[in-house]
Amino acid sequence: MTARILDGNALSAKLRGELAEKAAALTARGTQPCLAVILVGGDPASAVYVRNKVAGCEKAGIKSLKFEYPQDASPADVLGKIAELNADPAVHGILVQLPLPKHFDEKSVLEAISIQKDVDGFHAENVGRLSQGQEAFVPCTPNGVMEMLKSENVSLRGAEAVVIGRSNIVGKPMAMLLTAAGATVTVCHSGTRDLNFHTRRADILVAAIGKPKFVTGDMVMPGAVVIDVGINRLPDGKLCGDVDFESAKEVAGLITPVPGGVGPMTITMLLANTVESAQRSAQKT
Ligand code: NDP
Repeated sequence: MTARILDGNALSAKLRGELAEKAAALTARGTQPCLAVILVGGDPASAVYVRNKVAGCEKAGIKSLKFEYPQDASPADVLGKIAELNADPAVHGILVQLPLPKHFDEKSVLEAISIQKDVDGFHAENVGRLSQGQEAFVPCTPNGVMEMLKSENVSLRGAEAVVIGRSNIVGKPMAMLLTAAGATVTVCHSGTRDLNFHTRRADILVAAIGKPKFVTGDMVMPGAVVIDVGINRLPDGKLCGDVDFESAKEVAGLITPVPGGVGPMTITMLLANTVESAQRSAQKT
């Protein structure tokens, strides 16, 4: 039996429609949601991500401001811009596109962003709040995955969830969210002994590795939900995930494609966090 496809484009379109309505209502009350994006250097993939984020904002009626710096920009200039945006009441979200050039200290840049405007959810305080179940901006990619699971009524309580990858932006917050939702979570990484043992008992398998087609059908439990976070570019220019879609879809019950799976949901959740931030700001004033 072939798996059902969990279509991230369709779900995104629905959610973005709802967000556009919320943004329009806020704008009518005098608070247009506004996201400021900072891009340092000329990494082509980062430029594409930023372009998609800005386009997503425009379509949803969210204002976007883009600040571009050259590869050799001074960290002080970027930190100065962040301070200015932190102080600007018309800006509700600040995003610094990663990775930053090597002469930047990524941690200090992320922590310069006001936690009230940290719509990427990468600030250490936001991460701490999330881990304690307090109100926080949830990192967009794992939040998008949770929305996808919710849209399909995937039962999480007591489910065996296996996350491959332990990065700060995907693997770790993903594990936190699944744990909070009641799943029993195993986090695998490059040091995991017998990865297949873990993946084959997963009701929900999340791949966030950064290696094309790494998870093959024989690693998947029949009927499992397979979420592919990976975005890899193949030598022929095509995009593919961390899951070998062709073999995995023959075994899984539900699977996300790449492209058109988690990717669009990540941007949708960024828009959602920006609207949420604008809503909080409007409530205060
Ligand atoms: P990182 O490189 O930061 O993390 C990769 C993780 O995979 C690490 O924890 C690493 O383990 C683990 N890993 C690497 N090799 C193996 C292996 N052989 N077996 C088991 N685990 C392994 O990547 P990110 O988390 O930033 O991104 C992961 C993927 O998701 C990438 O393809 C990226 O492009 C994509 N991505 C997609 C997004 C979207 O919107 N869809 C958003 C963000 C990322 P260790 O810690 O031991 O090194």
